[in-house]
Amino acid sequence: MGKTDHILVLNAGSSSIKFTLFLGDEVLVEGQISGLGAVPNLKFNATKSRTSIDRPLSATEGTNHSAALQALLPLLDRELAGNPVAAVGHRVVHGGVSFSEPICLTPDLFRELETLIPLAPLHQPHNLAGVKAAEAAFPNAVQVACFDTAFHRSHPWVNDTFALPRSYYDEGVRRYGFHGLSYEYICEYLKAADPAAYAGKLIVAHLGNGASMCAINNGQSIGSTMGFTALDGLPMGTRSGQLDPGVVLYLMTEKGLSASEISDLLYKDSGLKGLSGISQDMRTLSQSDDPKAKEAIDYFVFRIRRELGAMAAVLHGLDTVVFTGGIGENSALVRQLVCEDQGWIGLEIDEQQNASNTGVISRETSRVKVLVIPTNEEDMIRRHTAALM
Ligand code: ADP
Repeated sequence: MGKTDHILVLNAGSSSIKFTLFLGDEVLVEGQISGLGAVPNLKFNATKSRTSIDRPLSATEGTNHSAALQALLPLLDRELAGNPVAAVGHRVVHGGVSFSEPICLTPDLFRELETLIPLAPLHQPHNLAGVKAAEAAFPNAVQVACFDTAFHRSHPWVNDTFALPRSYYDEGVRRYGFHGLSYEYICEYLKAADPAAYAGKLIVAHLGNGASMCAINNGQSIGSTMGFTALDGLPMGTRSGQLDPGVVLYLMTEKGLSASEISDLLYKDSGLKGLSGISQDMRTLSQSDDPKAKEAIDYFVFRIRRELGAMAAVLHGLDTVVFTGGIGENSALVRQLVCEDQGWIGLEIDEQQNASNTGVISRETSRVKVLVIPTNEEDMIRRHTAALM
């Protein structure tokens, strides 16, 4: 794979496709198609030709992933100027037990990924629909799958299992962990920019609409707050995070909720949105005077602090904390609240540095270094895809 090859990175969700076109490591185009099957819209920004598009798609163009990609093709073709797309890198949420690395897709491997749909029914089918759409649109390109779970396959057994009868573990009911491409990106960044931090005991807090934390020792994931699904761990924009399983039993037996109603409640109506009753958006909550907005932030921060302590314990120490994701990178307030009174663990942040949203935000006297690093999952997928060519 050379600097003159074009790689398209796709992240296909239930009603959206995010896309980035790279030439070598340079971003030529980025954008997304949202509202598939409902009110489809295209955002397309090309850096060189300075094309910027934000327009509705027709119902036909926006029926599904395949139609949407077909609608995108002429725009991409203009930027490609006659060059082919050499490879398409896909974000695939679940790699199950066996995939601990990205793979070049073959029909057999694709079928294997389909068998993982029951493990991630809300994401995997859409990721795979993205692969099918890309195969149709770019029949000569290599298709590469990069997994959110792969980075966590190094979890020790105690962090991989639940205390259920053993047969469940054997059939795949495990703590897979997610956001792996983001954690891998942060590790790769540190490896080059701060090798001591990379080689030490590191906790990364990926705080976006989806939020999780990862305990990393010498570049290896040893624990994650997300488990069997991306519901576990920290509260998120609309997801509950960790919950006593007894609550789910109560919802079923006492409230008569069906599986799909419980799924909607836990994935779409909980977290910051459910707790505040105002919004899932941290910016809105931070600016609100409503006490419920403050309580939602308090709960979010409390769970991050709790996990920080737990992860430091399983790491047997702590050298570096990294904040990333939309909230981690931009909310000085959340970082401040997470880091205050953490002197006991050797962590002190510098208020002014923290306000800058960038680089090292700990004091010089702080034993634990605290950093803000913007994540870039698309670039991680590009690198994997290029390496597999
Ligand atoms: P996703 O998980 O969908 O990729 P992002 O990583 O983009 O989400 O994070 C979205 C979250 O980041 C939202 O809660 C948003 O309010 C928050 N966010 C973005 N900018 C700021 C900011 N300046 N201050 C506080 N929160 C912010």
